[in-house]
Amino acid sequence: DPVAGSVTQSDALRTLHRVFGYDAFRGEQEGIIDHVVGGGDAVVLMPTGGGKSLCYQIPALVRPGTGVVVSPLIALMQDQVDALRALGVRAGFINSTQDFDERRVMEAEFLAGELDVLYLAPERLRLDATLDLLSRGKISVFAIDEAHCVAQWGHDFRPDYLALSVLGQRWPDVPRIALTATATHATHREITERLGMPDAKHFVASFDRPNIQYRVVPKAEPKKQLLSFLKEEHAGDAGIVYCLSRNSVEKTAEFLCKNGIEAVPYHAGLDGALRARNQSRFLREEGLVVCATIAFGMGIDKPDVRFVAHLDLPKSVEGYYQETGRAGRDGAPSTAWMAYGLQDVVQQRKLIQGGEGDEAFRRRAASHLDSMLALCETAQCRRAQLLTYFGQEAGAESCGNCDTCLTPPETWDGTVAAQKVLSAVVRLQRERGQKFGTGQIIDILLGKKTAKVIQFDHDQLSVFGIGEELAEGEWRGVVRQLLAQGLIAVEGEYGTLVLTETSGSVLGREREVRLRKEPKRAPAARASKGE
Ligand code: ADP
Ligand code: ZN
Repeated sequence: DPVAGSVTQSDALRTLHRVFGYDAFRGEQEGIIDHVVGGGDAVVLMPTGGGKSLCYQIPALVRPGTGVVVSPLIALMQDQVDALRALGVRAGFINSTQDFDERRVMEAEFLAGELDVLYLAPERLRLDATLDLLSRGKISVFAIDEAHCVAQWGHDFRPDYLALSVLGQRWPDVPRIALTATATHATHREITERLGMPDAKHFVASFDRPNIQYRVVPKAEPKKQLLSFLKEEHAGDAGIVYCLSRNSVEKTAEFLCKNGIEAVPYHAGLDGALRARNQSRFLREEGLVVCATIAFGMGIDKPDVRFVAHLDLPKSVEGYYQETGRAGRDGAPSTAWMAYGLQDVVQQRKLIQGGEGDEAFRRRAASHLDSMLALCETAQCRRAQLLTYFGQEAGAESCGNCDTCLTPPETWDGTVAAQKVLSAVVRLQRERGQKFGTGQIIDILLGKKTAKVIQFDHDQLSVFGIGEELAEGEWRGVVRQLLAQGLIAVEGEYGTLVLTETSGSVLGREREVRLRKEPKRAPAARASKGE
């Protein structure tokens, strides 16, 4: 490759100074850029905010020809291109938002060698017309952004990504760089296989985000809890509040506004113009809160997001990491705060059972959820648990900047409590066609003569009133943790509790059940940093 010999590392460094105005490369950037500029393939795992864009933009500028960037984020292409043009980079995109003439202009510029960077949506590369066009121009590098979208079991799978293996076949001499912020070892392997990059060099940056403080609080009145969290710790700060449903997105935004915090909603059901306006307000204004579904955020580059709050449980650790990763890209202290409760577990287990997909898909979804629950229920350092999940060795046992490190939770022997819950479940399971959720179980344990308890003669059960030593909230905590540990399960549309294969070992006193004590109040505000 004549290119490899004629460019040197200092071309890359010069481009960094001259075009981007930065002094030095960060972390792995230099090694990655070196390798790709030299014509090698690379698979890059770097957390959000780590600086992935430069890893392909600089090779695109240094090598002759146009760098073709495959990105699923059509909505952001215009912004990315504008930002590059502002730096004097000749950038363009081709996607479905353009009319025929605009597309023609881009194609002509590409063919004339007048583009440094060309963004394309993955679905474009399924079209022969696009592949023909690319064959007629000169390509310096292919960048495949958000490469985890190729992973079939991942949470962002896009079938169009599967067709991208064609790039290596048709352009064997053009280096490819696949980038993602989200990948476990399994996803990592899948990227390499499905994109056909067996010889790629792998670069894995640290996933640790030391400036983000991770916290999980027991969910009681989530909106009120959120409000006091914001008022006490993040008054006037910009942040994102994630909710599961569109309805709760809107309700939460309204609630915050009524309580003096400027907030706007964002979800896929909103009118496109309003959505775009809310997004651009968030990017441009200071101190705006966006309440959003996970539709919001992919590719959002706002450095000073001071908090990310979850009012509902994310479906996977990958999702949680990616969403919380939008906080604190500027490196300043930020908070990842989540309210999590029994209903989250019940609801998500039900969603998986009743959802689409085959058995294997459901199993996969269940194991994603299990990892997420383990993170919520852990009594150990949350950061260490996160890093371990991503296959990274945690630096220390205690990070000093997560709730469990700041206020180590107490654990207690919950074996007897677990037996009580399981015994009540056994009694109710004997009733056919039962329609009782966890609330009924807890009412029975507490000896509450509610209408529903009387109606079904549940006050006659031997387990009625055997659990008065714990308060209702504590019982909910017990049930939640049993669910998280797989010692109990939910079934059917009422979220009925049922035994699992491992329940027997608890009932038979063959195992001890360790539970975390429900904290009385959230841990103290932001930790005083360091020494
Ligand atoms: P990612 O795509 O990995 O989430 P970006 O490429 O958007 O991250 O980079 C995140 C931020 O860091 C951007 O504002 C970018 O300009 C900045 N950045 C990246 N590399 C450097 C560097 N070497 N020096 C200074 N700032 C950088
Ligand atoms: Zn910690």
